[in-house]
Amino acid sequence: MTVAKTSKIPLLLLTGFLGSGKTTLLRNWLKSPEFRDAMVIVNELGEIGLDHHLLAGASETTVLLENGCACCTAAEGLTETLERLFWDRLHRKAPRFSWMLIETTGIADPRSILGNLRDSALVAERFEAVGVVTTFDAVEGMRLLPQFMEIRAQLAAASVIVITRADTATASEIEAARSTLAEVNRAAPLLLSAQGDLPAAAVLTALQATSSGARLIRPAEIGMSGEIEAHDRHTPGVSSDFLHLPGPVILDDLLQALRALHADWDRPLLRAKGLVRTANGLRTLQLSPGGAIEAGRPAPGGSADVESFGLTIITQGRPASRATEELAALLARPASEEAERQAPVRELVT
Ligand SMILES: [Zn+2]
Repeated sequence: MTVAKTSKIPLLLLTGFLGSGKTTLLRNWLKSPEFRDAMVIVNELGEIGLDHHLLAGASETTVLLENGCACCTAAEGLTETLERLFWDRLHRKAPRFSWMLIETTGIADPRSILGNLRDSALVAERFEAVGVVTTFDAVEGMRLLPQFMEIRAQLAAASVIVITRADTATASEIEAARSTLAEVNRAAPLLLSAQGDLPAAAVLTALQATSSGARLIRPAEIGMSGEIEAHDRHTPGVSSDFLHLPGPVILDDLLQALRALHADWDRPLLRAKGLVRTANGLRTLQLSPGGAIEAGRPAPGGSADVESFGLTIITQGRPASRATEELAALLARPASEEAERQAPVRELVT
């Protein structure tokens, strides 16, 4: 029996720093005809993922790769997942997806991921990496760029850069971002997105127009030389921890505790995200590095068990376990009315 020659499945990496709007963008793309039958692998740092709760219809077409980063600690997990999905698709145990989208962790180095994918003969033979789309927060990105080598790596490897939250930035902030990004990566087209509204079609058109689009990206083209040690890929001292919150929480108290924690630390939280149970049902919560908190509702159709209720916290410079301890202590205290620095809360409309 011979295996019929099939064309490769296009694979797109969606990367970008913590809280830079990857999932919001992806959620809208999955509604578009271009990516309606895409398979998605979501890679998250913490042991309990949230992003699959934000993506509609996620159960069948979203695979969660938790508790590790596909550029280093979960590299093998990603290749194994791709191999398994390929066979499941072939044996009709998975939908016949025509795209493979990988949402990386916020600190992933896409060059390492692309390098790792080539180590699997099956993945190299059956999937074709057609590009790296990197999100860059119009306001926060400029502040974080000098601190995190991961952002520079993500930008340098980008085929297309999407400046996100363009609606919250001033024209001069966007102009500043544009000129900085052009210095880091001259070749990648810059696209703007406000509240994740950049259509998938626009990204695909931009990808095709770039020289790196629509063909396999080679390590030499993206400046990858030899083996990169795991500790060289990430800013030292980034850690994550999960605070389990099984019972119903009072949303206002939780928001206030998070804000207090974020403001008190000299090295503020990089990220907090999770699914919590409130008197009004389940809520998704996301704190971005700048301290803005988004509270939303999980996408319909998903299921969540009580074990996954809580917040994953990512820190740098202080252990995340300290942050979860402090947060637990703050929540145990009776609610106080004073809130020194009010960060904006955005209720997501889905
Ligand atoms: Zn990594």
